Amino acid sequence: MTGIPADGFTRYLRPHEMEAELKQLTTTYPALATLEQIGASGEGRPLWAVTLTNSAIGAAGDKPALYIDGNHHAGEVTSEMVCLYTIWQLLTGYGQDAAITDLLDRYTFYVRPIVSPDGVEFYLTTPYTLRSTPQPYPHADRAPGLHPEDIDGDGVIAQMRIADPAGEWRVSDGDPRLLVRRREDERGGTYYRLYTEGQVVHDPADGPLDTAAITNAPAYWGLDFNRAYPHNWQPEYRQSGAGPYPLYPAETRAGVDFVLDHPNIAAIVNYHTTGGFCFVLPSSRAPSEYPHDDLSGDYRLLSRKFSELTDQPLFQSYTEVTKTARFGSMMDWAYNQHGIFGWVPELWDMWGAAGVERRGEEFARFFGGRSEADQLRLLAWNDSALKGQGFIPWREFEHPQLGPVELGGWTYKFTTQNAPHAYLREICERHANWTAYLARTLPLLTIAETTVEPFGDDARLRRITVRVRNDGFLPTNLSKQALVTKSARLVEVTLTVTGATIVDGAARQRLGHLPGRSVGAVPTWQAPTPALSSGEARWIIRLDDDRPTDDAASAEVTASSPKAGVARETIRLTDTY
Ligand SMILES: [Zn+2]
Repeated sequence: MTGIPADGFTRYLRPHEMEAELKQLTTTYPALATLEQIGASGEGRPLWAVTLTNSAIGAAGDKPALYIDGNHHAGEVTSEMVCLYTIWQLLTGYGQDAAITDLLDRYTFYVRPIVSPDGVEFYLTTPYTLRSTPQPYPHADRAPGLHPEDIDGDGVIAQMRIADPAGEWRVSDGDPRLLVRRREDERGGTYYRLYTEGQVVHDPADGPLDTAAITNAPAYWGLDFNRAYPHNWQPEYRQSGAGPYPLYPAETRAGVDFVLDHPNIAAIVNYHTTGGFCFVLPSSRAPSEYPHDDLSGDYRLLSRKFSELTDQPLFQSYTEVTKTARFGSMMDWAYNQHGIFGWVPELWDMWGAAGVERRGEEFARFFGGRSEADQLRLLAWNDSALKGQGFIPWREFEHPQLGPVELGGWTYKFTTQNAPHAYLREICERHANWTAYLARTLPLLTIAETTVEPFGDDARLRRITVRVRNDGFLPTNLSKQALVTKSARLVEVTLTVTGATIVDGAARQRLGHLPGRSVGAVPTWQAPTPALSSGEARWIIRLDDDRPTDDAASAEVTASSPKAGVARETIRLTDTY
């Protein structure tokens, strides 16, 4: 094995290192995993996807599948590692752990650890942060204002403070390193303006630089891959980052093509970070606008399990209070157009790690300002758990444009945005538990029973009855949205006979959609409603010979549904006389 599991998921991998790991894992477990290049990034890096299933038991495309990806956003490298861990755990656990063995026998996992390899490479090898990819967007030149820059060349873009009587910040009474907000009625102390460490883009033709009026420039690398999907896409003036037109980034086009090329994909998880919660549907319109109760039914139940297994809350991506939406996300596209449920876990929770109590299950409160006491706890966590590495002591520095400043303060990349290395493995484990659970809820076709009986007076006639059942929790149509969009395909049962002729019943019969167990989940005070999760297909056949041998006469039945897999059985016709 390469670095994994020897270093135990305690560092972040550059794209070529991830590629090496994926090649190593897939060549070590050829019966369980295949690696496929599904496209190329803007800078020409390969886009990799791994298919995981026990192919000895059935082809990947014949099983219900969970699609998982990471790093739509360049700097959210915790996500690539959760993807890699999921792959590693499934492969190394197969044959060792009964639950994992069962997962790869019955289901398929498609995992795309790095949607944006260009972005990950740039993030991990420079001091910069960026949204998705290091391509200037929307403008080739830098807009006026403050741009993040590693001014002192220490490899980190941290913070910059400038003493100013009008400043909004003051030094905390609890720790001289910490800046906290100046109180509303406070005057007479030493105050600071606080900036990201950076450089001001300023055109002298606009007059002299006013250092008291520096504003942040818009993001230079502003493309956002997770706003570029072709559902409810919005242009730059409405939502920044979505690109000049839907699917403009090749990396997003590859994702859409992948999902469309794999109709067995029945659920989608896009890993992101930061915050320690999960964005849930809907993304771009109010739940009340859907003509069905999908999102308050099965979807809510599966989402709640996320909270239970990860100890992280759920936030609806569309915010009803402010009517703000995330347009053109992959999750929104997959659900609205194909009825596939999706989740966006924001993996890392810095405040939680520092032991700061979570403030409510409401998005605005969750992300609202933190008290001075909370910030002091965070600093104490930095001092003990991170050995001080998350906070750089303030030091004086002569800024080439702004004159004397102090550099220091909180770092961002492996403090706020991503899990510090020591926390990474535990996050991977928690989230892989939930995706394993999620896979086990997918619809799953089985042939529950086949019967062959003599029929009528003709000694050669047989009646074949096949009972097909959905053994999964979710229905074979996944969601009501899939019915609305007519993307759900009916369960089909096909009979092919050898040494016999079908005399009644179409060779291919459609059984409709088979609900899973979810439909029976009614409150206990109502009359129990058993799920009608099975259906029957029937045929009358006539044998060519009076008493054929096994070899001479047989029937093959195949039940299939794109989201629920394919089940096959060979039926003996010679038992019945
Ligand atoms: Zn993100």
